[in-house]
Amino acid sequence: MEIPEIIDLMSDTVTRPTPEMREAMATCEVGDDVFNSDPTVNELQNLTAGMTGAEAALWCPTGTMANQVAILTHTHPGQEVISSKWSHIVMYELGGIAWNSMCQLATVPDEKGWPEPDDVKDQFKEESEHTPGTGLLCLENTHNRRGGRIMPLDILAENSKLAHERNIPVHLDGARIWNASIESGIPVPEYFSKVDSMMFCLSKGLASPAGSMLVGKKDFIVRARRNRKHFGGGMRQVGILASCGIISLTRMVDRLADDHRAAKKLSEAVLDSGSLDIDPDTVETNIAIFTLPENCSGNAVDFAEAAGDAGLLVTYMGERLVRMVTHCDFDPSWIPAVVERTRVAVEVIS
Ligand SMILES: *Cc1c(COP(=O)(O)O)cnc(C)c1O
Repeated sequence: MEIPEIIDLMSDTVTRPTPEMREAMATCEVGDDVFNSDPTVNELQNLTAGMTGAEAALWCPTGTMANQVAILTHTHPGQEVISSKWSHIVMYELGGIAWNSMCQLATVPDEKGWPEPDDVKDQFKEESEHTPGTGLLCLENTHNRRGGRIMPLDILAENSKLAHERNIPVHLDGARIWNASIESGIPVPEYFSKVDSMMFCLSKGLASPAGSMLVGKKDFIVRARRNRKHFGGGMRQVGILASCGIISLTRMVDRLADDHRAAKKLSEAVLDSGSLDIDPDTVETNIAIFTLPENCSGNAVDFAEAAGDAGLLVTYMGERLVRMVTHCDFDPSWIPAVVERTRVAVEVIS
């Protein structure tokens, strides 16, 4: 494929709907989903429940809404929610735990890409006349801000067990759970079986234009549906979007392995060129987080700007951290161009 003027590695959310999705959008059967009568939404929800091993599923416009609906559905005001320090729920949902659910937050470290059970254990609080009581444990797999790391199944199980022993529910932010599953070989229902609810995005590597799925027990999904309405997320002929979700789940899952291979190759090539630093062994899925060299005077924001000028779109994840995400609209044959544009950007800010 010809090398484009702009190579976009900002996120896997930049993927455009496939031609097959465009076709499905035009031809799918639709109805009013607020009355439960959009057959395409119902088909996607049934398909999702089947593929995840859940009793029921709910389509949500965004992953953030699905996470926030889950938190609201599991908790009551004044409780505490445990989530890891660099999780999406803590970093990128605008304090939604407090804003939407009137709960407070307790964080645990996640340097490796997941919270250690010993750290989680320390954060549980029993409800009393004086203490809030833990209402929910949130986990994330793969871990976005920690470079797409896969939480090992035994760690996930151990953390969940600690919560369940205390009658505390567990929500899994599995925005990229299909990436975790394809890479680890562990089926998604295995991961889901350890938790009470799970969210995943159709709109990232799976290439849908919008949509995330929330799964859980039947009664949980009934209550979540009410809360989705509270957030203004009850939509009408949304089969138009759900039709793409069906293609995401039936056609786009297996190919995620290509994105993982590309991210690994890309990280090795950039490292070899000597411009940015990374440990390619930590690149397990489709996210590569690089560190700027010590001798360079600019920071990650400067790098992102310079890279943009050179025709490479990336995001910054901290003072010296730069993120590149591979996806289906990126061709691995462009890797040498990414390496060259990275080199130019580092030179500009050095
Ligand atoms: C993208 C993402 C979300 C939220 O999804 P949106 O659809 O962008 O709201 C939640 N959690 C993680 C880990 C994500 O990467």
